Amino acid sequence: MKITRVVTHFLSIPCTAHTEHAPLIGGREWTHFDVVLIRIDTDEGITGWGEAFGRARDLPLKAVIDTHIAPKLIGKDPTQIAVIKKQLEFELHNFGRIGPVAYGIAGVDIALWDILGKRAGLPLYALLGGKYTSKIDVYASLLRYGTVSEVERITHKVLEEGYRHIKLHEIGIQENLAARRAAGPDIPIYLDVNCPWDVRQAIDASHALAEGKFGWLEEPVWPPENYAGIAEVRRRGALRTAAGENAGSAADFKLAFEAGALDFAQPDLTKTLGISEAIRIAALADAYNVAVVPHNAVYGPGLLATLHFNASRPDTPPLERLYFALEKHPLSQALEPVNGSIAVPETPGLGFDPDPEVIERYSVGVSELAWS
Ligand SMILES: [Mg+2]
Repeated sequence: MKITRVVTHFLSIPCTAHTEHAPLIGGREWTHFDVVLIRIDTDEGITGWGEAFGRARDLPLKAVIDTHIAPKLIGKDPTQIAVIKKQLEFELHNFGRIGPVAYGIAGVDIALWDILGKRAGLPLYALLGGKYTSKIDVYASLLRYGTVSEVERITHKVLEEGYRHIKLHEIGIQENLAARRAAGPDIPIYLDVNCPWDVRQAIDASHALAEGKFGWLEEPVWPPENYAGIAEVRRRGALRTAAGENAGSAADFKLAFEAGALDFAQPDLTKTLGISEAIRIAALADAYNVAVVPHNAVYGPGLLATLHFNASRPDTPPLERLYFALEKHPLSQALEPVNGSIAVPETPGLGFDPDPEVIERYSVGVSELAWS
């Protein structure tokens, strides 16, 4: 089997944040959700789909995939996943070990696993060694609303919709504690602040937040790779710590584990070199007695890959799902959570392909490399 064609699709899908003022991303109001899809065709007629983490019209990411990554894939045997991944990493390491190159490799890796599963006639979880559950709990990953009243309203709303796990992105102590009061004592609530503090501020905040009994404090300090700082927050604060969505590879996670920084490791399969690297990170985390709870901030093939991955882990960690309403979902609506969980697909590969009508309708740029 050979790769004959690689196409990237950049979609921008209108979305709402279930609140009056859309939160900001990169200083811009978040009115559209960007989706970066990678389609890999083969000479056997099997097509794999992957996804790279894309935000805020990140057209440079698409250019990196089109110019640096895709040309290296044409003619390759797509079942040689580890070989291809290593080659891409090695030949492109001067362009950065996290960011667009890593995201692009991640998307390719996911597509190659999809091809492998489709060719074998097996769902992805089977290729990962099997599944420990047939459905995965989803946690509603709320946005930053910034007021107590709006946090309370949205917390009630997601619980009414059936979610049984919540993640907050509030920085304010009162906003976070308001969510706990609104949800009651039994709902697991995780807290993600996205690197706003120095170590002293983070330790103080951790103690101020202790009464909320939050499941973890995620990315408490700046910069995200300040593992010694996170370790200090873990030792001297009141909450367990989580991070990893901005780590570049298993080697970065090793530094975090050696520093004693983490209770929860959060590799993102669409950022940190894909499914293959997540397997390595999970093995390392197991050896360091750190739990693995992947980060997920996409709705397409990357979400599916994370769903299978979580099902293949003995502790079946919950799946992160951003709390947006997209005008159209890049995959089937079947992936909307039902009573707070999503069934693990049983069809070969990732389980669902992106909807061609959605691709056509929301595409904001496409390029194509063909080889005949
Ligand atoms: Mg986060």
